Amino acid sequence: MYDVIIIGAGPAGLTAAIYAARAGLNCLIIESTMYGGQITSTPEVENYPALKKTAGWELAESLYQQAISFGSQLNFEKVNSIINDGSLKTVITDENAYVTKTVIIANGAKRKHLNIEGEDEFSGKGVSYCAYCDGSFFKDKTVCVCGGGNTALEDALYLSNLCKKVYLIHRRNEYRAQKHLVELVNKTEIIEPVLSFIPVKISGADSVESITLRQVESGEEKTLETDAVFVCIGLFPENNSFSDMINLDSNGYIISDETCKTSCPGIFVAGDTRTKELRQIVTAASDGAVAATAALSYINQMED
Ligand code: NAP
Repeated sequence: MYDVIIIGAGPAGLTAAIYAARAGLNCLIIESTMYGGQITSTPEVENYPALKKTAGWELAESLYQQAISFGSQLNFEKVNSIINDGSLKTVITDENAYVTKTVIIANGAKRKHLNIEGEDEFSGKGVSYCAYCDGSFFKDKTVCVCGGGNTALEDALYLSNLCKKVYLIHRRNEYRAQKHLVELVNKTEIIEPVLSFIPVKISGADSVESITLRQVESGEEKTLETDAVFVCIGLFPENNSFSDMINLDSNGYIISDETCKTSCPGIFVAGDTRTKELRQIVTAASDGAVAATAALSYINQMED
């Protein structure tokens, strides 16, 4: 039996593991794909305290090494559900059922899809959700990035170092990204902003050849030739499998506050998957520390 099972090995989950294992808890992290979460697709992290400029994968590797150095175990399995047996919980994966005193859900959030014609058909054939992973396939080509947040602008800047031309397509006439990113984008000639247009269709033969856009006010359509479409339009949580046990908000985020407690005693939440104002690496790491400490208090009370 484990003291704590952490679902997800992003910054929230790995920080929770550092705090839990360091406090002497027997800790298992379960991750379905790779450790690091979203930061693995961030070219450069420059707003994490005490780190100047670090590649996302380097920060992920360092967090992982630190977590396992205190004795946490990481299993690569997909979690399907949690069963609440009163004071104990059972975490069910594709391969195993693990009994634990507490659970910390730190499963992050996934990239949203445009849900337009051609998106699924050309996924992996020019449609991508990760510029850092797939950008090098489009060296010296024309690409477009959809979105107006931090991710879209960071990805457009990253691609501008590789590609011949980067269209940055956004549905409003101003970005929601941080000011310094907007300034950098505006200074980068290779990036051509296409404002107040929404993507309506991705076309091609064997791979992406063009994207059709609609002007938001006039409804007028135009087509841009492009070799790739990078979709960076935000995130969504995947918590449906926990909805019978813990309260979610209308967007599927786990309802919690700075205590990282959920509506189910013994289940805690950390990082982007919970209701919060600011989804950043530093706030995810902070949640991980809070959730692990709350799990320790819960276990101590159980055993009193
Ligand atoms: P985001 O901030 O939610 O931005 C999503 C963007 O996509 C918005 O500009 C939005 O337009 C647009 N959009 C949403 N749905 C769309 C649709 N169906 N069609 C066309 N456009 C659509 O998402 P994000 O950039 O992925 O960032 C997620 C979180 O991570 C944010 O909290 C962000 O600050 C954080 N983050 C931080 C950093 C950093 O600090 N360096 C880096 C990356 C991400 P509207 O503007 O019109 O809503």
